[in-house]
Formats: sequence, structure tokens, C-alpha cells
Amino acid sequence: MNAPVPKPWIMEIAPYVPGRSTTDSGKKAAKLSSNENPLGTAEAARTAFDAARVDLERYPDAGATALREAIGAHYGLDPARIIYGTGSDEVLHLAAGAYAGPGDEVIFVHYGFAVYEIAARRVGAVPVIAPDQDYATDVDAILACVTEKTRVIFIANPNNPTGTFTSRAEIVRLHAALPKSVLLVLDQAYSEYLDAEDDDGGLDLARTESNVLVTRTFSKIFGLAAERIGWGYASAEIIGAMHRIRAPFNVTIAGQMAAIAALGATDFVEQSRTHNKQWRGWFADQIASMGNKGLRAVASKANFILVLFEGDVSAETAYKGLMDRGYIVRWLPGQGLPHGLRITIGTAEEAQGVAAALRDIVGG
Ligand SMILES: *Cc1c(COP(=O)(O)O)cnc(C)c1O
Repeated sequence: MNAPVPKPWIMEIAPYVPGRSTTDSGKKAAKLSSNENPLGTAEAARTAFDAARVDLERYPDAGATALREAIGAHYGLDPARIIYGTGSDEVLHLAAGAYAGPGDEVIFVHYGFAVYEIAARRVGAVPVIAPDQDYATDVDAILACVTEKTRVIFIANPNNPTGTFTSRAEIVRLHAALPKSVLLVLDQAYSEYLDAEDDDGGLDLARTESNVLVTRTFSKIFGLAAERIGWGYASAEIIGAMHRIRAPFNVTIAGQMAAIAALGATDFVEQSRTHNKQWRGWFADQIASMGNKGLRAVASKANFILVLFEGDVSAETAYKGLMDRGYIVRWLPGQGLPHGLRITIGTAEEAQGVAAALRDIVGG
């Protein structure tokens, strides 16, 4: 042995592939590959970020007190039971790290969020993939995967990359059927895009149940992806366990200040939700009108649409064609979706442009 040997389970991780921001030719393009907010971020968040330029030599508040209090006040939660992370990605890793280890099982759905598998493998746990039901989460399939080795279940709702949604009744049914020793993680990265009546009840479960963690992010509707701030809500015991392995100063001063301001900018959030709903509907109709060319949009409640290519033109051909025409979308062969493109709902101009480019490519 003439060099350090990584743990075998680490080498089984397929590295995360982020959405691209430049085309093959390096030409500037519309980035519709990472589900970012096309309207930017709230002016108040930008102002707060700028104001944080002072004291660069100081560590941030390790307890993120002001941020937790702002989140608690906004959502009616106990600040003491809020954990925060370098993006909600970190919170997902903390959940796996605190509750799963070598030989344990971590369940998530086929076509689930890519980070779940990495989080499971990182701690030596065995990823268990529950079959989907036409791209959506199937609660019975998840329950069928539960064994006495199951420690954590990750569900994104709405799910990424499919955009599908699991109802409150189904989430409650899943939770009720689980052993109390299994941690149910409800990843609500896109929940602010839902209509009020579509609330999946995750926060209500996390308020009262001993085995539910809800995660949220400032990266999506709040438009602060650059600052990497996510958070989670669960029982004091779960939060306490996760804090033990959290990096001590994991959220920057500017990020904390911008996030607090973003929470208060309710007009911006409302405008973003309305914009998304309008153009998501419009874009889905456009895809439906290309149904004779084998295109199909999976019904989405998020800020993106998974388009399936089931006709003569392949997703790969469309991906490259869109790139040539100045639109970067997400092709996901590594996630079992060589026949799909995930397309973020951009500005009005971007949505119209990418639809026209697709029509040009498929000849619809
Ligand atoms: C984007 C996303 C996240 C988290 O992003 P962060 O930027 O790390 O907060 C988490 N879960 C899902 C399903 C996502 O799509």
C-alpha cells in the first residue's frame, strides 16, 4: 500500500453532476438546468447582503440565532428546533450522518433527488430504491422496502427531477405505517411553489411527531442559491443529534442576513409563485401540443417540468439541439432518465424561446 485508501463505500459514490451554465461552444445561454428563480432575488435580500460587507474578519453567529428566530416567526415554529445548513443539501447529509451507518438501509424513490444516494453511501449505508408509479412517489412501494435495517427515508415533495407531488393524505398514511425508529425526511425544497391547498402537512408532522424531519431551502423561490442556506425542523432530540456533526460556522453572515430579508419579502415570493404557475401551465400546454412527436410532460407542481421523449427524436438529440440554440437544460442519463429532459421554468422570454426551439427540433 503506497497511498491512502479511501473507504470502499466512498468510491461507490457517483459524483454529483451539477446543471451546466455554459454551452459546449462556451457561448452564453439561458440556464434552465438548476431550477433557479428566473426573477432573481428580492431587492431587500440584495440590500441586506450588501450591508453584510462589514467585519469580514469575524466568524458568523454559529447559532444562527437571528435567522432561526426569523424562520420561527415566519412559519410559527420553535426556533430551538431549527437546524440550518450550507444549503439544505448539508441538512440532508446531517440526517443520514446522525441516523445511518454501515449496513443500515436508506430508502428513496426511483427518480429521486440525486443527493439522497450520495448521503446514504457517504456513511456506508445501503441505498434502497423504491419503484416509482409513472414517475411519481408510490407510498406502498416505499412501505414494501422497509425492513428492520431501515433507518432513514428521503422523500422530496414536490420531487426533483420529476416535479410530481404526494398528497397530504398519502404522506400521513406513509408516516402512520412506519416504525417510530425510522426517520422520515420530507424535503420541501419546492413547497413555496405549491398552492396553499396543496400543503403536504410535513411541518405539522414535524411539530408533533418524534421521527419526522422537514427540510427547506433559500435556494429556490427565495433566489439565494449563491449563498447556500437551508434549514430543517424536527424534534429537539433529532435536531440535537444533527447539531453534533454540523460544521461549526456553516452559514455565512451575508447569507444569514440576506435570508432574513428574503423571508420578509412576501411580495417577491408571491410574484415568483404566480409567474411560475402561469408559465409552467403554458409550457405544459406547449409540450402537449407536441404529443404527436412523442413528447410528454410529467405533471409538475414545482418550478420545472420533466419532458419525456417517447417518439423519433431522442432526449439526447433535443438536449444538444437546445444547447445549439442557446438553452441549457438538464439531461439525466445518470439518474435513469436518458429519455427525459428537466427544464426549469425561466422568464417569459426564456419559456417561449425554449418551447419554440423544441418545436423546431422535433418538427412539430
Ligand atoms: C435544490 C434542491 C435541494 C437543495 O438545495 P440547496 O441549495 O442545497 O438548499 C434539496 N432538495 C431538492 C429536491 C432540491 O431540488
